[in-house]
Amino acid sequence: MSEILNMETICKSYYMGEEEIEVLHNVNLKVHSGEFLSILGPSGSGKSTIMNIIGCLDVPTKGKYYLSGLDIESYDEVALAKARNKEIGFVFQSFQLLPKSSALKNVELPLVYAGVPAGERRERAASMLEKVGLGDRMRNYPNQLSGGQQQRVAIARALVTEPTILLADEPTGALDQKTGNQVMELFEEINQEGRTIIMITHDTNIAKYAKRVVHILDGYLTE
Ligand code: ADP
Ligand code: MG
Repeated sequence: MSEILNMETICKSYYMGEEEIEVLHNVNLKVHSGEFLSILGPSGSGKSTIMNIIGCLDVPTKGKYYLSGLDIESYDEVALAKARNKEIGFVFQSFQLLPKSSALKNVELPLVYAGVPAGERRERAASMLEKVGLGDRMRNYPNQLSGGQQQRVAIARALVTEPTILLADEPTGALDQKTGNQVMELFEEINQEGRTIIMITHDTNIAKYAKRVVHILDGYLTE
């Protein structure tokens, strides 16, 4: 299977006034196409920092990051945004749906940005919503859906552009245990169809749905 992500001795520092504080230390990580990887660690361990780098929302202070074989260091802001839109589908703890748009409109939105014509857009969004089990809820607004259903809409939105990686930050953090497990079963299905998933979590019970788990503690990553 081909390598789609390669981090080589990545460090990340933040500046607090004059002081430089390193929060990721020499992180090495390779991910191959089709993997379902979980990054497990407690609060403050560096999960969001590494997620932001993987998702091209931030750049490392030191080290190399290759995404789909391309060296992120050579990218300017515009190229980074392009890579992000093409390669990464984001799912967040808080769903981040547009409250005044229907489920269908929410899922269509990334295709609007991608310049896909209206008819095709609608069709692709509708079929993605059917796939996540919401075929009969397309016209509903987020506040008419349960938390689990809202997260399914967010998952459909993340997948509709067919990104290389589904990148999820605490995707079950706002859900009760049963609903969280159902969302994980959906992740398993999506992965079985070949999609690469990287999921960040502090919850051991959620991490075990992944086929591979790496641990992060105080900015150090270990298999
Ligand atoms: P997690 O997501 O695992 O809770 P984070 O990646 O958010 O951890 O944070 C890791 C460490 O980096 C923490 O000590 C946090 O205080 C620090 N940190 C995160 N973002 C910033 C920032 N923008 N400026 C300074 N320190 C930060
Ligand atoms: Mg975090």
